[in-house]
Amino acid sequence: MADRSMNKDMDKDIDIDVETNVELDTDPQFVEHDANLDVLIERGVALHGHLGPYLVCGIRMGRLALQLLRCRGYSDISAESDAGSTPPLSCLTDGIQVGCGCTTGKGNLRVTNWCRPRVWFIGPEGRTVTIEIRPEVVASFRTGTLEQASQSVKTLPLEELFQWNPPSD
Ligand SMILES: [Zn+2]
Repeated sequence: MADRSMNKDMDKDIDIDVETNVELDTDPQFVEHDANLDVLIERGVALHGHLGPYLVCGIRMGRLALQLLRCRGYSDISAESDAGSTPPLSCLTDGIQVGCGCTTGKGNLRVTNWCRPRVWFIGPEGRTVTIEIRPEVVASFRTGTLEQASQSVKTLPLEELFQWNPPSD
């Protein structure tokens, strides 16, 4: 059985799989910037378990953050989601994981309990941007079915879907 004292070795640059002692491939992976939104939504549903407007918004928000902060994704961006832990609002955070590759497991995604459809992103060289779903869009989720709302946020222009400040440099 592995000894806890092995943890001190994990600070080294090379990741070793503690079970097999094999060096892991540490080449960084990057989000496919040209990935089709439908493919990402499929991926999101596979991760999250169902389709919903907050999930789709999270995916598009993550993609927008990569663009605004000039990130390649997965590792050169971190996010703090204010969407809390109560669905459907919290479904937004799973969309973020698919859209920009920030994940709780990598430690570059944190969730606060502000319970707002808003995410703060930090990119390379300290650039930051806060993106929030527009209140009128959130209000529109109360009418129609989940599928209708999801379809509508999939096609809405980004400026009509979100509000954001120009990214800080
Ligand atoms: Zn959901």
